[in-house]
Amino acid sequence: MFSQKQLNTFKETETPFYYYDLGVLNKTLAAIKKAAPPEYHIHYALKANAHPQLLQLIKEAGLGADCVSGNEVKRAVETGYSGNKIVFAGVGKSDKEINYALDHSIFCFNVESVPELKVIDELARKKNTRANIALRINPNVDAYTHKYITTGLEENKFGINPYEFDTVIEELKKLSHINFIGLHFHIGSQINDLTPFKNLCSRVNEINKWFIQKGYLLPHINVGGGLGIDYKDPDTNTIVDFESYFKVFKQFLELQPQQEIHFELGRAIIGQCGSLISRVLYVKHGINTSFAILDAGMTELIRPALYQAYHKIENISSEKKTSLKYDVVGPICESSDCFGKAVEMIETERGDIIAIRSAGAYGEVMSSQYNLRDKLRSVIL
Ligand SMILES: *Cc1c(COP(=O)(O)O)cnc(C)c1O
Repeated sequence: MFSQKQLNTFKETETPFYYYDLGVLNKTLAAIKKAAPPEYHIHYALKANAHPQLLQLIKEAGLGADCVSGNEVKRAVETGYSGNKIVFAGVGKSDKEINYALDHSIFCFNVESVPELKVIDELARKKNTRANIALRINPNVDAYTHKYITTGLEENKFGINPYEFDTVIEELKKLSHINFIGLHFHIGSQINDLTPFKNLCSRVNEINKWFIQKGYLLPHINVGGGLGIDYKDPDTNTIVDFESYFKVFKQFLELQPQQEIHFELGRAIIGQCGSLISRVLYVKHGINTSFAILDAGMTELIRPALYQAYHKIENISSEKKTSLKYDVVGPICESSDCFGKAVEMIETERGDIIAIRSAGAYGEVMSSQYNLRDKLRSVIL
């Protein structure tokens, strides 16, 4: 739901663009702070949206930074994050990225394989320093989400599997420039049912016990992110139920008193504050289908084309009262350039302003200039 003031801004602005509502972001950040016990460490996953101005606000709220590339580490550093608030995951960290992170003394590398462990040790040795590492474990927990965004199953490329633990421990003993400080888990994204998180807790408990028995009482347990948002009804459920989410971990995770818990949330923080704002260029009536052709396409928001993701689509400028069904499509020369089929929307015409909601996470960051599209604009208010 947008105010008249917001709508007036949209009308005066060249479309398409991303609109970020700072009121929503601030309320979300306040809700997290209220819900999370003070001893919990929460890192914001930059890959969801790394806009410097938004990142600044998130940093000011006291969150750390969770990065999956060297440039994300760089963005966090440039935003003013101190190294000790930055964690760095990813299956394919390049030497250049590792070196950059070492130079900024980041808090922790989340290491995804034995070969990576050896490279980090070697690069740290050359710099005469030590790298803090957590092992990213593949807990084999099903997140029951889309197959492209589930990450914690054995057949995924992410993480180290339990059957490899003995080998990893043997390797670790040989490495002199590594501090083994934690275990890291991340099972997937857009998880709306809390059951997978409960299951994750049980697996973490087992795995943590295993490491303790082997003599490794690790000070940091990172349970990753993945908490979902309500794409269907962003106006009613603007803010995620962080309280119930944190309660699951409070209740089911059995850690030792000296062990600290870390989270990495992306979508749940930034998803609902963003909308993709566009105009209708043409309405085309087929035999059975009407098309609303927008000036925004999959180049601006690829989630529907990539994951069949649902976004609420609204005609926000028309005074009309009647609704019709449209296939809402973009201008890109690909059949998958479709935001939604048979979308019920206020009857539309050329020039109407269309909002594609809940697009703050994995929207702008995934945009491209395919078809030589203009560089994407954003408005932050
Ligand atoms: C993507 C990612 C996250 C954040 O996921 P959300 O679903 O946006 O909360 C956290 N940790 C890691 C390692 C990731 O790759």
